[in-house]
Amino acid sequence: MRRTPQHTPADTTGVPGLVLLLALFAAACSSVPITGRSQLSLIPASTMLATSVQQYGEFLKSSTVSTDARKVALVRKVGTGIQGAVERYFREKNMSDRLKDYQWEFNLVESEDVNAWCMPGGKVVVYTGILPVTRDEAGLAVVMGHEIAHAIAEHGSERMSQELLTQLGGIGLAAALESEPQKTRDLWMSVYGAGATFGALLPFSRLHESEADRLGLIFMAMAGYNPQEAVTFWQRMAAQKGGQSPPEFLSTHPSDETRIADLQKLLPEARTYYRKPS
Ligand SMILES: [Zn+2]
Repeated sequence: MRRTPQHTPADTTGVPGLVLLLALFAAACSSVPITGRSQLSLIPASTMLATSVQQYGEFLKSSTVSTDARKVALVRKVGTGIQGAVERYFREKNMSDRLKDYQWEFNLVESEDVNAWCMPGGKVVVYTGILPVTRDEAGLAVVMGHEIAHAIAEHGSERMSQELLTQLGGIGLAAALESEPQKTRDLWMSVYGAGATFGALLPFSRLHESEADRLGLIFMAMAGYNPQEAVTFWQRMAAQKGGQSPPEFLSTHPSDETRIADLQKLLPEARTYYRKPS
């Protein structure tokens, strides 16, 4: 999108941009499920999902997908369980249309990186390097619940919107993909935590973290996992911090005492959603 500037004596630098920005804000807000927070959303969901399918596919092609049948089955089991919880939650709130274009996929990738992420549309990757920290099925549910929560809350789209504004001057994602394919791809990978081999990962904001913690706890509880496991998982993560090279997961997901204390406070709400595994 390119505007021809029409200078009049009343124009001051930046004002047309500001007006455009305000117009975009007004037209481009959506709200986060469960928390109800309204958020900036400049990129149509259809563009996000199409890009996700493409980037996820390319990521898998350039990675070694695990063939360890037991571990792969565990990732799929936990992922499918969280997916079921998310779908049930949205069905009960009459919001299923927000999930209609999801194409859920759960893959385990061979990598020493302590990391996991979920792209829009339910495209999840777990790295084998995080399995020693998740330890068991419930620990894995903490990580996958949390990452899927980031996707459900459309945090990536929100960050992409903010980054496109600052790095590419508000150019739309579709236009950016066409004119700056490499730059846009790197930006995408860094926003979704998949950028370890491509460049720096963008950390989630405190707000996004606490939102993903809250939603993730609810989804894992609905899937039949004890939400208390989230506290013990983040305590284990915090213990990793002192190591020689901090895990990739911690560069996007800082863990500290505040988070652990906040999780404790969220447990009573999450427990009301708990459903025994069938
Ligand atoms: Zn997070």
